[in-house]
Amino acid sequence: MNRRSFLQQTGRQALGLAVLPLAAQAAAPAATSRQRVLRAAHLTDIHVQPGLGAPAGMAAALRHAQGLADRPDLILFGGDCIGDALENPRESVLEQWAVWDRVLAAELHLPACQCLGNHDIFGWKMRGRPGVEQDALYGKTSALERLGLKSSFYSFDRAGWHFVVLDSMQIDGSNQGYIARLDEAQFAWLEHDLATTPSATPVCVLSHIPILSAASFFDGDLATTGNWIVPGAWMHIDARRIKDLFYRHPNVKVCLSGHLHMEDDVTYLGVRYLCNGAVCGGWWKGKNQQFGPAYAVIDFYADGRVDHQMVTFTPPPV
Ligand SMILES: [Zn+2]
Repeated sequence: MNRRSFLQQTGRQALGLAVLPLAAQAAAPAATSRQRVLRAAHLTDIHVQPGLGAPAGMAAALRHAQGLADRPDLILFGGDCIGDALENPRESVLEQWAVWDRVLAAELHLPACQCLGNHDIFGWKMRGRPGVEQDALYGKTSALERLGLKSSFYSFDRAGWHFVVLDSMQIDGSNQGYIARLDEAQFAWLEHDLATTPSATPVCVLSHIPILSAASFFDGDLATTGNWIVPGAWMHIDARRIKDLFYRHPNVKVCLSGHLHMEDDVTYLGVRYLCNGAVCGGWWKGKNQQFGPAYAVIDFYADGRVDHQMVTFTPPPV
């Protein structure tokens, strides 16, 4: 199936989900510096699947976000759209994506952009098993096609802000199957993208895995050796290199992420790093530690400021 027929089959073309419509809608408003120019809802880690009330929960989250009295202009999806493709059989993965497609087609009514998550990648934890790496679903390609993305990293302009969407996951021999970093090609692309963005244009970076996070210290018992050991799959292992790059571009103002199903708000060297919980909370089984199902609302201002709030919602009872 080619990409065009795929999009038509899933009905996603009509929703304007691809990146190009977003870019086409971009318009620099005549804004005063203190003026809010954009309101976005960041929905990450939905982990939809057929069971656990996840389809109704995903629908409830989308209705909640799009039903706010002060309605967002844009939905930023943060990745981990489905339960898991890293180590589930292809039939299960296709079933999960079918639920994603169905709920999105029925419930999404705003412009949106997509970001790849680790659990959207097929087979990386099943490498070596017969047929896995030969499967047409293997790796990132089929997930990107599902999400209507030509590349796993890209940027666009909207309302006077520049948005950069990163691909945090590189294949790795660890237990997780991936490590959180940018490969050389993506880092070079990011350097170039920031260098060619006007210095007066504020930048928002969206990644699935946090570049810098306080919550990552509490994801598991990471202090048993007497040292804090944060796995490279929890938080970008190349955070030092990225924060040094951001330091050369003071117009980088805010970084949004998910992945940990926990929430934090860390400001470092003038950049605000927001880890925005999980729509599914604890994988549709209540809370993860102290954090229940939630999404973020971010208000973007012309002068580069952002306001941020976490919004909780209650999934329908199963
Ligand atoms: Zn994740």
